[in-house]
Amino acid sequence: MKTIGMIGGMSWESTIPYYREINQQVKAQLGGFHSAKIILISVDFAEIEAHQRANEWEVAAKKLANAAQQLQNMGADCIILCTNTMHIVADQICHGLAVPFLHIADATAQQIKNAQLSKIGLLGTRFTMERDFYIERLQSHQLEILVPTAEERKLIDQIIFNELCQGIITEQSKQIYRGVMHKLAAQGAEGIILGCTEIALLVGPDDAAIPLFDTAKLHAQYATQFALA
Ligand code: GLU
Repeated sequence: MKTIGMIGGMSWESTIPYYREINQQVKAQLGGFHSAKIILISVDFAEIEAHQRANEWEVAAKKLANAAQQLQNMGADCIILCTNTMHIVADQICHGLAVPFLHIADATAQQIKNAQLSKIGLLGTRFTMERDFYIERLQSHQLEILVPTAEERKLIDQIIFNELCQGIITEQSKQIYRGVMHKLAAQGAEGIILGCTEIALLVGPDDAAIPLFDTAKLHAQYATQFALA
């Protein structure tokens, strides 16, 4: 079994499900007392969030690239960055890395393709829904991406930072997400990407009539597949 290097803490609320899913997958496939070989570097999200707000992507990139390098030096055989948003600096993280960097959008696209779907709604932070880095990566897998309206994107983003990343789950926010997903489905979305690793803490398969693709879970499974290949 190979060792998975995780850069987590963005937020830690979603790093826990990653850890659980990877271990559950290893146990399901190897049985007995088997558990995953993981090295975790968990950053202080306050620093990263401040860099995001201040548009200091290069500073954040340096910190995360440094974490990836450290994981590699400690013996990680691959690196996963446990957040969608910070994949905005994926290229800088990969630079000079000898081990594979497993991209969260590739993990997600693979499952969408397996489900034979092509027109997909995307929920995430404002960065993920509005900048090119994520949508273009999905489009490179021949997926057509629908995003909510500007007003809805603002609300979706606020709920992520003010509530989900702080462990706050409310019925009101759940209803807002349900409403947005319903509208995307009405526009022709065949599925929805939960393109922020905390969203599955708020909504699940019962909250939409179309399939939901939980990026945290799919990314964790993708890494496990690599580790056990
Ligand atoms: N975990 C989130 C994501 O998947 C949002 C937190 C962040 O901005 O890094 O995008």
